[in-house]
Amino acid sequence: MNFQNPVFIPGPTNMPEVIRQACSMPTIDHRSPVFGKILHPCLEGVRRVLKSATAQIFIFPSTGTGGWETALTNTLSVGDRVLAARNGMFSHRWIDMCQRHGLQVQIVETAWGEGISAARYEEILRADTGHKIKVVLATHNETATGVLSDIAAVRRAMDAAGHPAMLFVDGVSSIGSVDFRMDDWGVDVAVTGSQKGFMLPAGLAIVGFSTKAMKAVETAGLPRTFFDVRDMAKGYAANAFPYTPPVGLMNGLKTALEMLEAEGLENVFARHHRIAEGVRRAVDAWGLRLCAVSPEVYSNTVSAICTPEGFNATDIVTVAARDYDMAFGVGLGEVAGKLFRIGHLGSLTDAMMLSGLGVAEMVMVDLGLDIKLGSGVAAAQAYYRHGAKAERVAA
Ligand SMILES: *Cc1c(COP(=O)(O)O)cnc(C)c1O
Repeated sequence: MNFQNPVFIPGPTNMPEVIRQACSMPTIDHRSPVFGKILHPCLEGVRRVLKSATAQIFIFPSTGTGGWETALTNTLSVGDRVLAARNGMFSHRWIDMCQRHGLQVQIVETAWGEGISAARYEEILRADTGHKIKVVLATHNETATGVLSDIAAVRRAMDAAGHPAMLFVDGVSSIGSVDFRMDDWGVDVAVTGSQKGFMLPAGLAIVGFSTKAMKAVETAGLPRTFFDVRDMAKGYAANAFPYTPPVGLMNGLKTALEMLEAEGLENVFARHHRIAEGVRRAVDAWGLRLCAVSPEVYSNTVSAICTPEGFNATDIVTVAARDYDMAFGVGLGEVAGKLFRIGHLGSLTDAMMLSGLGVAEMVMVDLGLDIKLGSGVAAAQAYYRHGAKAERVAA
């Protein structure tokens, strides 16, 4: 195993050296004002990344999955109805979690590769005249298929139907890498984790609750202890957690937020778009296609690339790791073996991406695919040339 190469999995992402150093710190008293100097900038920084003026931010020692559980158990009761689209492995898992908590999920089956249909949501919400549906779930960026859904459109659908349900958004692989507008989109709970856009190791569930979601906390019947946001809020008021916080990770998050804001969020989003577009040009030059069905749903954080019929796409990931010490993502669930994924979020540059495309090409040629060495790299180079610096605006 060679640790020099960047990883191209869609999380955990590459860690900048300054973040690694920030995570490595001496023990401090985690119930002291010293911890408050780490905690409060984290809460405020996350709120700015979510583009919310009023959301309450909670950070748990957990992962994105714990963020889903925080969202559900703090706001809902057994038997409550939720509406969710299933268009990949992550939306599938969130639905599964709802069902295991005794929620009734109205599932909108959606082809893997397509985004959430706001029109279908609207139709269902209009038909729900008794307002039985309590929450609408939306996976912003379906990491399994490289599909970005339009959350603003989901909000418009809810409003058009005049439906009072809350909107919960899984932004685990979008927040901090692509635009996310909690207030503008009327998101009631936003969920993310530490190991994707925030460039940290796994270990933090990061959530934002709207005022409406905080109100639902008071009546929610699902049991919760570890993930109870009321206990967490009490802890924060005393510069603490209800239990022991992962201080090093929190210090890393503080640094990550400073890095994102120093670059400028809009620049971060533009960089993700540029890197992703280079990958898409490469895929096109290889004669392959994305799982994502159309440009409106192309993800700027992960590309899921379909391989020809009869070829096992997972071999690309296996050989890249074995022969080139480079990590790409496998296909999950329904698309296992049919596609491989290039993660391109977090701490990445054009130059790093070219190395990933170069290795992907070598592997595909090694495995006998009809691809010309250098073709994808050249397409990406043509796109990246002069791009990075020229595009940047003052942070
Ligand atoms: C990674 C991811 C998750 C799960 O996160 P964990 O941190 O592994 O629990 C959930 N949703 C999406 C969209 C993801 O990309």
